[in-house]
Amino acid sequence: MGNTTINTCKDCGEKLIGRSDKKYCNDYCRNNFNNKQNAFRFEHIKYVNRILKSNWRILQSLYKEGNLKSSEDILLSMGFKFECITGIEVYNGKVELIKCYNYSLVKKEGNQYALKLNEGRTGH
Ligand SMILES: [Zn+2]
Repeated sequence: MGNTTINTCKDCGEKLIGRSDKKYCNDYCRNNFNNKQNAFRFEHIKYVNRILKSNWRILQSLYKEGNLKSSEDILLSMGFKFECITGIEVYNGKVELIKCYNYSLVKKEGNQYALKLNEGRTGH
């Protein structure tokens, strides 16, 4: 008595009978659930990698065209996503520098950025 919660299988949603710490009907449901979770995580990694690559291409095209000064608006309009970067430097609570692989955006006044190519220090 006392325990009236009905557990359902995390995979198929069937009601579970037996021990209250049971989470799945059986090993099949457990494996199925874990496979789906892993697939989801991998999809997320692929999604982030895609954005990083797209950000890198935007910076590369600006650099190759000699556009070494940019603004947040220009970058956003080109599809740059500031939430997907490979590094950030913050000084006194303010963003000083944003990195995307071998490119850096150095923050200037008024949401302006200076684009730099970091050569060397990659070990290659
Ligand atoms: Zn199940």
